[in-house]
Amino acid sequence: MGVEEKVPSGFLLTTVEGLFGWMRQASFWPATFGLACCAIEMMTYGAPRYDSGRWGQEVFRASPRQADLMIVAGRVSQKMAPVVRQIYDQMPNPKFVLSMGVCASTGGMFNNYAIVQGVDHIVPVDIYVPGCPPRPEMLIDAMFKLREQVQQTRIGIHARDQAIEREQQALAA
Ligand code: SF4
Repeated sequence: MGVEEKVPSGFLLTTVEGLFGWMRQASFWPATFGLACCAIEMMTYGAPRYDSGRWGQEVFRASPRQADLMIVAGRVSQKMAPVVRQIYDQMPNPKFVLSMGVCASTGGMFNNYAIVQGVDHIVPVDIYVPGCPPRPEMLIDAMFKLREQVQQTRIGIHARDQAIEREQQALAA
């Protein structure tokens, strides 16, 4: 019997995907920018007390070209919206977006004409963190949930698309 018959179909690709996902999930490089008070908690998350460097997540990059994670920390003003979108467009694929705090996710208490009522009107969001502001522990928790998504992502498919696909399958079942 040949090796092809002994090895289950898709075995090699599954192994490569697992390795690929494991490498990607352990090396987030967030883009360096903050929009409001939530950014203070984001900075604390990267500072020694919470030490996100323990998991290889602390390397904030000044250039979007070197970043694969956008943390939207704070409310997004209408004037800032095109800039946020431009930063997102400049980031290489695969890239992920984390919406930090109620203002970034929904506009929060700023229900007015000057603030975007949810950053998902501008960029696709992979994970939302509630709170005003979310504590650094919540950001750490969200990062680990995002890591799980990334770890399970198939090659060539975005984690968000795969999550939607899984949800649709669950609804159909
Ligand atoms: Fe500031 Fe709270 Fe809005 Fe964060 S959620 S930007 S802490 S008001």
